[in-house]
Amino acid sequence: MSTIEIKKVTKRFGDFIAVKDADLSVGPGEVVCLLGPSGCGKTTTLRMIAGLERATSGDVIIAGQRMNDLSPQKRDIAMVFQFYALYPALSVGQNIAMPLHYEKLSKDETDKRVMNVARIMHLTDVLDRMPGQISEGEKQRLAVARAIVRDPNCFLFDEPLSRLDVELRHSMRGQIKEVLTGLSKATVIVTHDQLEALTMANRIAIMRDGLIEQVGTPHEVFAKPANVFVASFIGTPQMNLVEADLKSFGNGKAAVRLAGNDIEIAADPAVSRLKPSKVTVGIRPRAFTAASEKSGDTIAAQAELIEPMGAETLIHARTSAGGEIRVVIPREMKVKIGEAMHLRPDPKQTHFFGEDGKAVRA
Ligand code: ATP
Repeated sequence: MSTIEIKKVTKRFGDFIAVKDADLSVGPGEVVCLLGPSGCGKTTTLRMIAGLERATSGDVIIAGQRMNDLSPQKRDIAMVFQFYALYPALSVGQNIAMPLHYEKLSKDETDKRVMNVARIMHLTDVLDRMPGQISEGEKQRLAVARAIVRDPNCFLFDEPLSRLDVELRHSMRGQIKEVLTGLSKATVIVTHDQLEALTMANRIAIMRDGLIEQVGTPHEVFAKPANVFVASFIGTPQMNLVEADLKSFGNGKAAVRLAGNDIEIAADPAVSRLKPSKVTVGIRPRAFTAASEKSGDTIAAQAELIEPMGAETLIHARTSAGGEIRVVIPREMKVKIGEAMHLRPDPKQTHFFGEDGKAVRA
């Protein structure tokens, strides 16, 4: 069965710990993205799965078998790298056939497999061209075609789309996802592009400083971030994370002093555990409504910078406590610089994080 599992995997380079106690399992047909800022350990994790890097401790298990001591060739994995090295002197068709070279297949069988994969990857029209005569998108599809032609146990992709321009990246995301969905293989994709992860992955593993901070579906990591880091990393514009004093909790409402305002906001009962203490309140820029006047659940702020974003407008507003709050409003709603705003956070989309940075939920 096509599965990838890592258990308590750690990688040290001398004294430096690049990946620490990483646990992850990827099922057949599942696409998991490793997402995180530069240097967080994504590629090192992928390379340990591939066998290009040896885990210092922990287990790498592929298709139910411990692989730590096996070479990359013996792991039956196909990798697609950011810099897909195509053979420039071979045609597209010959490039696709290359990985089959060692399988000693008949010419008929090789041709059949190449045609099948070329069809899946929409390359049939360019099979006779040389890599120098095809577009960047076609080169990318060729790299994927070469990976899938061998029918390996699972796939690993390292920043596969980062060389493409924005438009091409957008269409390739969909195309690669469609191909992977039809293949029933466990796939791990490394990316630092959250949009890529949100659109391509069944689940996302978010990493920071060598640690996997949260694993969840794109919806889970967006709607229920496990901690302040995940909350700040996922979502554009970034979630507002405001330090506040939680004063009391009663009748399902938290009373907080937030950005110079005393407000009451409905909150998860688990929040009552924190009182009284410093908390971080997370509110996404699209989770406010603009009220016409001040009330017990609004935050007062003044519009300071206005950024049109097409159908919506991003407003940077200054609170009386001096902090900034980002608010996204529909384009039709007009706000002028200097205008007073009364921002009402949607309680269902308001997150409370304790002093340890962890989300507080029942
Ligand atoms: P990026 O998105 O920039 O590729 P990444 O999340 O993939 O980053 P890794 O390449 O896994 O990060 O690197 C994790 C950390 O390990 C980095 O600080 C890197 O400098 C360090 N590192 C990686 N390979 C080695 C090595 N061979 N020797 C020493 N340190 C290394």
